[in-house]
Amino acid sequence: MPDADPIPILVVDDTPVDLLALHAVLDDGNYRWVEAQSGEQVLDILLEQHDFALILMAVQLPGMNGYDTVDMIKTRQQCASIPVIFLTANSQGAQRSYASGVVDYITKPYNPDLLRSKVHGFAEIYRVQQQLRKEIHKRRTAERQLRLASKVFEHSGEGMIITDQHAVIQAVNRAFEEISGYSREEAIGHKPSMLSSGRHTQDFYRDLWRTIEAQGAWEGEIYNRRKNGEIYPEWLKIVAIKDAAGKVTNYIGSFSDISSHTSAKQRLYHLAHYDNVTELPNRLLFNETLKRELINAKRRKSIVAVFFLDLDHFKNVNDTLGHAAGDVLLKEAALRLLQCKRDNDMVARMGGDEFTGMLVDLIHPEDAAIVAGRMLKELAEPFTLGDETVHVSGSIGLSIYPNDGQDVETLTRNADAAMYHAKELGRNNYQFYTEALHAESLRRMELEAQLRRAIKEEQFELYYQPQVETRTGRPIGMETLIRWSRPGGGMVSPAEFIPLAEETGLIVPIGAWVLKTACKQAKAWLDEGLPPLLLSVNLSSCQFREPDFMDLLTVVILESGYPPSQLQLELTERIIMHEDDFTVSRLKQISSTGIHLSIDDFGTGYSSMSYLKKFPINELKIDKSFIDEVCNDEDDGVIVSAMINLAHSLKLSVIAEGVEEAEQRNWLDWQGCDAIQGYYFSKPLSADDFADYIRKHTTTDD
Ligand code: C2E
Ligand code: CA
Ligand code: CA
Repeated sequence: MPDADPIPILVVDDTPVDLLALHAVLDDGNYRWVEAQSGEQVLDILLEQHDFALILMAVQLPGMNGYDTVDMIKTRQQCASIPVIFLTANSQGAQRSYASGVVDYITKPYNPDLLRSKVHGFAEIYRVQQQLRKEIHKRRTAERQLRLASKVFEHSGEGMIITDQHAVIQAVNRAFEEISGYSREEAIGHKPSMLSSGRHTQDFYRDLWRTIEAQGAWEGEIYNRRKNGEIYPEWLKIVAIKDAAGKVTNYIGSFSDISSHTSAKQRLYHLAHYDNVTELPNRLLFNETLKRELINAKRRKSIVAVFFLDLDHFKNVNDTLGHAAGDVLLKEAALRLLQCKRDNDMVARMGGDEFTGMLVDLIHPEDAAIVAGRMLKELAEPFTLGDETVHVSGSIGLSIYPNDGQDVETLTRNADAAMYHAKELGRNNYQFYTEALHAESLRRMELEAQLRRAIKEEQFELYYQPQVETRTGRPIGMETLIRWSRPGGGMVSPAEFIPLAEETGLIVPIGAWVLKTACKQAKAWLDEGLPPLLLSVNLSSCQFREPDFMDLLTVVILESGYPPSQLQLELTERIIMHEDDFTVSRLKQISSTGIHLSIDDFGTGYSSMSYLKKFPINELKIDKSFIDEVCNDEDDGVIVSAMINLAHSLKLSVIAEGVEEAEQRNWLDWQGCDAIQGYYFSKPLSADDFADYIRKHTTTDD
């Protein structure tokens, strides 16, 4: 017995001497003990654990006695059947014990043999019951697995055949019936050769069986014949099932009908190579075709034009009329473009509102201009979308093989650059790629390289522009503005390099440097005794979306020791235009640190106003373009006044930027604008000059 699992028993007694006596007799490794000192404790234990062979329980217990405890045990379904033996000093209690459902009793002091044999008896019963339970469980699991296997067999999408060792069919499933056209009854008892199409040689089948003999399985494409005579290809797998001695007992064949695959392949090809909105070739097919056409052109010494076409203001259509209308417009535009091309030319869609294409076998580059002109004319005609009539136009960039490039990549890049140039020139026009554009792209590449060096060599400096309370002119904050002093090149305006830094991702390390440096500086000013000011730092959308951004904020705050409640991040409307979950949760994360959020360039974005309520924003910053003419242009005046009211109704503060005249300041003061930033008070200043400015403009009685 000792090598079997120990039997769990529950022993209930509060008298140490008696417990010791029990241990002396029963503690032989055959039992696993759980001990309790009171009836209450027994009930608690049984709540958690009810797998006991036996309960040995003293009748005399502190609190609830043994009888009451047994009564309670018997009311619980899970433990009612556990046998209980009473331990009692009083043999007269025996009668009462049986009455309460107790199976036996043992009197104290214990007779060791009697005790041992009684407990052992119940342990044996428990062990047999356990075994029975296990057997039942095992059988049930096996049955369940069998049921599952037969379900899988029956419902599999693959046709299945089970044969005996002589390859005589024993069973087939429903998919077999569907694919082959033969019913179960027609198939059972026959050999699978009833399906053979006659398309394969004897050698083919001989090889097949040899492979199964050698490797236990065969897999491949095979032609079979349905009951109706139709020949079809199937992908077949045959597996030999062997018994313990290694002798084959059955073969299982499973197959799928692949006759539809050829059309599926065509469908897949179409999906991969055509745009699903316009049915035009997509970027992949365009690139493949252009590559081929360039080889042809080289041989024939002909000219190929590559064009990039962007629909102007397409976004407005999508935003105001919805995506479905946008799709209709794209389809219609595609049809119009197709009318302008010749047979061997191609028009493709790159995605969004961008089209591209190639014009082949040209004699002069100017021929491409004629086609481009025609496309613009077609697109300029109004589009009818349901009840609406909308006008869009196009901007086209052209590059020419062989002059502007020899390969797909260069030609498309140059056409793209020319397209941007066309947009800059006011849209609705076409532009050829030129050397000047080339020079521009070179300049950008050079600038990018210099920017990388600037990061490494710390050529950046921060300037600070005061923000003042409109009513009093008292400084209350500062905006951090980056400056780049190029070695030997003077100061470069951020307006020039920030957009490039954003495009290239360099804004992430640059922005991190700005944040760190600004907080360090502001903390130093606090320590010097300058009055506390709200420090505003500009944040670009790439930074905002960086996975590590919250970590950066935490590190900056901890390292600098600058209070987060005096830090503000300026976000553009572009950042929060996407009202997605990520944006909402990130804004909440930032706000929960105590850092303020301001919407920069307010009024210039396209976004809806709904975000103002949804996001934890503290301040609106009215863009300079509204302030410029606020005193002269009635519309601007109305707009700014409305913005101020809107902000205040949402309990946000408002700051106006770009204030240059006393007249603007007075007007804003009259309208209740909270704060002002602009040359009227101060230009952005170097750190030293800024500190001087603050000292001068903060009187001691402040
Ligand atoms: P912004 O955030 O709109 O900054 C305000 C710009 O207006 C600054 O130009 C500032 O010098 C200028 N400004 C302020 N008051 C007046 C005024 O009364 N009249 C005129 N004419 N201009 C005024 P700045 O410093 O050239 O910065 C241009 C833009 O560069 C900024 O526009 C901001 O978008 C970006 N930028 C600057 N520093 C950073 C930075 O550290 N990180 C990021 N992501 N962007 C920055
Ligand atoms: Ca700003
Ligand atoms: Ca701004």
